[in-house]
Amino acid sequence: MLEILLSNDDGIDSPGLAALEQALGVLGRVWVVAPDGERSASSRSITLDRPLRVRQHAPRRFAVDGTPADCVLLACRSLLPQVPQLVVAGVNLGYNIGEDLDYSGTVGAAAEGAQQRARLAVAVSTVSSADQQLLLRAAGFAASLIGKLLEHLPPERTYLNINVPPDSNGQIRWTRQGNPLPRGTVIIGSDPRGKKYYWIAERPDEKEPPPETDRGALARGNISVSLLTLARDFPGRWQAPAL
Ligand code: MN
Repeated sequence: MLEILLSNDDGIDSPGLAALEQALGVLGRVWVVAPDGERSASSRSITLDRPLRVRQHAPRRFAVDGTPADCVLLACRSLLPQVPQLVVAGVNLGYNIGEDLDYSGTVGAAAEGAQQRARLAVAVSTVSSADQQLLLRAAGFAASLIGKLLEHLPPERTYLNINVPPDSNGQIRWTRQGNPLPRGTVIIGSDPRGKKYYWIAERPDEKEPPPETDRGALARGNISVSLLTLARDFPGRWQAPAL
């Protein structure tokens, strides 16, 4: 029996997670270990300065008062009988592309799955939507792609980032991480007590994303799949000076 762990960063009650649960049920036995509330943009951070609390909602469903990476770590090392073969995070309500990958809790959860030595770890995202049909369709595309990848596993210490456009034509493209502009907008205002605040705004959109990038594929209605790696060493191309 294929053991499947699902998590996310939008919280255990997210309709994106429910859609994924429904779509992946056909592949094996599904466990859900997810944050008890919204934890978007928590990257792969883990909680070390306090104990974590777990609430069991059903035999294979747990809410954790921690980050997405906490959830995957606890699931693999404590809540599940063994490290699951498949870890899937999502469906995130909002694309995770380009520089989002460094901030995303969804991608962080998939990375932790790879680190815990799940044989396949995947992050799945689509646009922010409350449309259950749209989320189910995105989860369905992801599930059939995951089914194929289980028969052609990527190398160890890698994981995959899938983004599904709402108007998907079902066409899948291997992509590389795009490189949009850095987040540059900070909104400055004052709170009801007159105290100044700073609020980091959404990323700017790339005008003409190349077709081989994640955003480029999505702009053309294609499902984007990128292979990511836990290794941080930059391969080749730069001739390092003698030191
Ligand atoms: Mn999120």
